[in-house]
Amino acid sequence: MKEKPKLQGRIISATVSRKADRWFVSVCVERKIPAPSHVTGPRIGVDLGIKSLAFFSDGTKIENPQALVKKLQKLKRLSQQVSRKKKGSHNRRKAIIRLARLYWRISNIRMDVIHKLTTYLAKNHSQIVIENLCVKGLMKNKRLSRAIADVGFNEFRRQLEYKTKWYGSEVIIVSQFFPSSKRCSRCGHTKDELSLSERVFNCDECGLQLDRDENAAKNLVAACWAETINACLETGGYRSSLDQCLSMTQEPNTTKT
Ligand SMILES: [Zn+2]
Repeated sequence: MKEKPKLQGRIISATVSRKADRWFVSVCVERKIPAPSHVTGPRIGVDLGIKSLAFFSDGTKIENPQALVKKLQKLKRLSQQVSRKKKGSHNRRKAIIRLARLYWRISNIRMDVIHKLTTYLAKNHSQIVIENLCVKGLMKNKRLSRAIADVGFNEFRRQLEYKTKWYGSEVIIVSQFFPSSKRCSRCGHTKDELSLSERVFNCDECGLQLDRDENAAKNLVAACWAETINACLETGGYRSSLDQCLSMTQEPNTTKT
């Protein structure tokens, strides 16, 4: 390498890759780092949405940059330009590079948002509760698939898992079968049906009206540990499990028994 890199530790490997028309080298090093001190912040539930990027159980809403949607028109135009150029021509090669650059730009916008979000969560919250979404299953839904790919569910989870290890927090994954969206976060009433177009959760039992994703996030943080909830659901006591979970929220040092 021409530049003297500021690398600490023993170099393990180097990987050369090409993105659009640029070359990159990533160097893997091994070094000892001190064990992280435990993050003392509150527990938080995060529900990843389609319309907005994420909803936190404390009511915070993170807007989706809609990177792909915004650039979609341009993407369409550039793709057309590629297909119109004569195969093997110099102009076609130039058009392909322009298209690749746009794809790269879109993925950078997406990654930037996800990185900021996961860093914030891992640094400021002792426990982050997320749902184990079956992304592959959702991707089969054609109308949803572009939005889901754009949000980057898998990437979000991957980053959260390694960053919580870095900063000393914990990620808790709640079973995808936990009815976070259909359940009322106030009274525990579960709806039989909730279509994706219903953006506001209306409880038939207690009259709660809440944004669909905020309701789901609140349910996630109450779920705490999937095992606890499952055990409680089997005995039919959602209310008591909720109270139990809320009391755990106040005492973050309670052991997981
Ligand atoms: Zn209710």
